[in-house]
Amino acid sequence: MQYVDEFRDSRLIKKTIEMIQQLADPTVHYRIMEVCGGHTFSIYRFGLHDLIPSNVELIHGPGCPVCVLPMGRIDEGLRIAEDPKVILTAFGDMMRVPGQTGSPLVLKAKGRDIRMVYSPLDSLKLAKEHPKKEVVFFAIGFETTAPATALTLLKAQEWGIKNFSVFCNHVLILPAIRAILDSPDMRLDGFIGPGHVSTVIGCRPYAFVAQNYKKPIVISGFEPLDILESILRILRQLKEKKSEVENQYGRVVLWEGNRTALKLLERVFELRSYFEWRGLGFIAQSALKIKKEFSYWDAELRFGTQGITLTDPKAAQCGEVLKGVLKPYQCKLFGRSCNPEHPVGALMVSSEGACAAYFHHVYQKTEV
Ligand code: SF4
Repeated sequence: MQYVDEFRDSRLIKKTIEMIQQLADPTVHYRIMEVCGGHTFSIYRFGLHDLIPSNVELIHGPGCPVCVLPMGRIDEGLRIAEDPKVILTAFGDMMRVPGQTGSPLVLKAKGRDIRMVYSPLDSLKLAKEHPKKEVVFFAIGFETTAPATALTLLKAQEWGIKNFSVFCNHVLILPAIRAILDSPDMRLDGFIGPGHVSTVIGCRPYAFVAQNYKKPIVISGFEPLDILESILRILRQLKEKKSEVENQYGRVVLWEGNRTALKLLERVFELRSYFEWRGLGFIAQSALKIKKEFSYWDAELRFGTQGITLTDPKAAQCGEVLKGVLKPYQCKLFGRSCNPEHPVGALMVSSEGACAAYFHHVYQKTEV
């Protein structure tokens, strides 16, 4: 299959659902986590959760980059932007994410120079155009976006651009999956593996999920048929008492990943000892830090960030939703004081956030 329409073919979808119904044992309650926020978005957008048997429960995972960023890091970025010499740049998803004192957009409305960019290289270009300003790129994302940040740091070094730096918040998906698997309050039967991250890291690094934790993991595409086929493959493995890594998204993901991108990451970044994740707490070696060779362009060193830790607003249950313990609608604030117009947590901002996806594609439609 080559075109999107084929992955939305109602005849094939119906057939796959029938196969899922035949495979799913009605006496078993299956709990399958979709790691990536892109999958959560597709599941709600296409109503896939309503098409599969009710005993096959889909649990939303932590794969939405802005959602897992703790409030302390957002406030550190905003504190940098308070400097009148600074132009803070960020991806669109970041602009409305609330910190303790407001979002980047709120600070922009108060007169700070905060701009949305589509790529870190746009920020470098901005630094060239404004030599008297300090341009700081607020870098977020998993292994998917980190190579572009690495490339930008290499270019900053090569071109000798001194008024540019990166506030690095890149995180890694594998330690997060491991933390979820080690969590005592989480029982999972298998994983729909993240499609985007895997284009960079490949399938091989997930072997520990299958071998050490004995859980099937199927790397999946984002179309309805992709996700349903991945669920089918997980159920098939469970029935055959297998736990393997499978690649359903072979049209995009290579088993070995993208070697060029991986080399870029290795050249520019090293592992942080610890990093705080919203909902998951501090996880060892779960994030990237800029290597000493590029420290001149490290905003944490240039602006002396302090590594502050802040707790989420009391009633917000973002952490529980991120860990898959609660569904979005089970948060006390959902649809009331937290909605896409006035988000309390980051999960209500990004299209990949479970709360925003549920709000737009399920809640709003049933409430009208
Ligand atoms: S509804 Fe709002 S506060 Fe509650 S979990 Fe979702 S984003 Fe967080």
